[in-house]
Amino acid sequence: MEKKKFEVPEWAFEFHGHKCPFMPIGYRMGTIALERIGVGRSQNHEMHVFSEMGIAHPQGCMQDGIMAATSATFGKGLIEKLNYGKVAAIFWYPGKKGALRIALKNEFSDKLAPHEFFKYRKKGIEPSDIPDDVRQDIIDMVLYATEDELFNIQELPDFEYTPVKGSFNKEKCEVCGEYVFERYLRVKDGKKVCIPCSKYGCAEKTVSFPKIKK
Ligand SMILES: [Zn+2]
Ligand SMILES: [Zn+2]
Repeated sequence: MEKKKFEVPEWAFEFHGHKCPFMPIGYRMGTIALERIGVGRSQNHEMHVFSEMGIAHPQGCMQDGIMAATSATFGKGLIEKLNYGKVAAIFWYPGKKGALRIALKNEFSDKLAPHEFFKYRKKGIEPSDIPDDVRQDIIDMVLYATEDELFNIQELPDFEYTPVKGSFNKEKCEVCGEYVFERYLRVKDGKKVCIPCSKYGCAEKTVSFPKIKK
């Protein structure tokens, strides 16, 4: 039987900046999420994605693939990180019950690991400097794999999430004079000021850890 190749549009690689296997992995995750939830790309502020990735480990490219496939982008405030250090993401859609979690299978991760691509990466060579044929070969492993070979897909029926309500209200900081959206205004010595002028440090916990009842 001829194996079916999944197509990732060229613009997604252009947006991402280089050719690597993990952007396509994320693109496939996002595509599955849309299909399973039964929705299209988020034109406005619909799908929320909770990436389980963290910082300072490889494979974060997955998140650009998810954004490209779903239009649940960082700019629209629709993707945030849980910093669990896992190649997995949770997809939540307003009006749909629960959520969907998609995680890369250990077996597939282990199958990719011995590839020449990672020998270059571990030597500190950036993806764009790895020979084209080496990159294409590992990307094809992702594109020719079946959903079942790639992912564990899990329904989270009890997943609850309430997006933060948006507001257009802003005021000028009484120290630097710059506009600040009101949830980020702080009071210091009786003045309404921006966070840098307040010297209070970090804004807030931006990740609203979703509740999962297991
Ligand atoms: Zn990449
Ligand atoms: Zn200020």
